[in-house]
Amino acid sequence: MNPNLDHISPVAEASPDAAPESASAVALGRLAAGNARLAAAIEAAEDPRAALSAFARADPYAVILGCSDSRVPPEIVFDETVGQLFVVRVASGVAGPNEIGSIEYALARWGCPVLVVLGHTQCGGIAAALDKLPPGAEPPFDARGSMHLGSLLSGIRSGLGPTAAISASSDPWRAAAEQNVRRTVELLLNWSEPIRRRVTEGRLAVVGAVYEVESAQVRFLDG
Ligand SMILES: [Zn+2]
Repeated sequence: MNPNLDHISPVAEASPDAAPESASAVALGRLAAGNARLAAAIEAAEDPRAALSAFARADPYAVILGCSDSRVPPEIVFDETVGQLFVVRVASGVAGPNEIGSIEYALARWGCPVLVVLGHTQCGGIAAALDKLPPGAEPPFDARGSMHLGSLLSGIRSGLGPTAAISASSDPWRAAAEQNVRRTVELLLNWSEPIRRRVTEGRLAVVGAVYEVESAQVRFLDG
């Protein structure tokens, strides 16, 4: 984790005499308070200038394509500091033109030698794309009235491909996450000439991985 900043509390303290506020104002206040704690911790560091420069340096050695799920932030999952990972996050890790373009940018800019497609178990987006919900899954959300959400769900569904094997699996969460990751790796190699070229030249490894929410462990998939 970031050195010298370990004392920052991850949860904002609520003031007992605070006036009733809207949920939005409370949430925004929590974000602002968190950033104020970060700024204060940098200020209080033994060498504030060095502490600040650690936040300003971008030198990523890995690109991560992952899901927006709040439980799977790559910097936490891989215990990395600011500036070390180039992260592209979108629901269920769907790789469309914008995501692939972002990855290509990072590869061209920093020459990162590894690209990890990071799926995870209990992925709500994938569950919504299955014909049969995995155990414990919430009912699929109603995308009616949201053209963009509807389009996202179709993207997840087509990226995932046939789902019969997932439904028949004894661990559908894991099977779904794994199939989604493997197909995304294939898609990246098929659709992106820069990614494919780097792999052929031995300058890049594209690796699938599944974060298991149940154990907080990442399982890297064989090629
Ligand atoms: Zn997810």
